[in-house]
Amino acid sequence: MTRKNFRIFVVLGRSGSGKGTQVEMLQKKVKGLRHIETGALLRELSREKNSLGKRVKDTLNQGELVPYSFVAYLWTKELLKVFSQGNRWSGIVFEGSPRKLIEAKMMDQAIRFIFDTEPIAVYIEVSRKEVVRRLLKRVVCEKCSNPIPYRLLENNITKCPVCGGRVTRRPDDTPKAIRERMEFFKRNVMPSIRHYRKDNRLISINGDQPAEKVSHELWGKLKKNRFI
Ligand SMILES: [Zn+2]
Repeated sequence: MTRKNFRIFVVLGRSGSGKGTQVEMLQKKVKGLRHIETGALLRELSREKNSLGKRVKDTLNQGELVPYSFVAYLWTKELLKVFSQGNRWSGIVFEGSPRKLIEAKMMDQAIRFIFDTEPIAVYIEVSRKEVVRRLLKRVVCEKCSNPIPYRLLENNITKCPVCGGRVTRRPDDTPKAIRERMEFFKRNVMPSIRHYRKDNRLISINGDQPAEKVSHELWGKLKKNRFI
């Protein structure tokens, strides 16, 4: 089955860039986009009461990385699920993957093989200053581990909008850990971004703006490049 109008997007950006919010806004504009969020797949797995669940949980809590081959297995499983559901979806939007260049290349191969198309990358670029400002304010839900979108933080939110649970600051959102995450991004994710750019499959958006403006710029560039 070849689907000529089936679109696949990968949304890339440092933590604190507002990827989740942009994915939500994109889904409102492009109906039937299936959201594949690696973080959510891992959180689901971490709730399983077995040794693998515990290992995933510990790895996430320590802010460490789950092996990319394992993550690739998780998103490949989702790709196959979407494929088997036929015309139910008009496309896919990835959040949180790929990270390393090798994963980006694996994803290209899998998507070409399964869907006969290539993913379009959206890079939400935020300045270091803005990332630090946002992450030092960030909270997560204690009950469902849901990250709270930063745009809601401006209202000093105290309850999770999903489950009503208590929200709390993440212990790893310290200036030092934030700096380390930025270094990680530069070393590991930037090569993937350059890979898409070289292939003319990348659009960059100024992520320092308010969410609505980011979304507007994103939409305009997708259209201008005939990616939509
Ligand atoms: Zn919650």
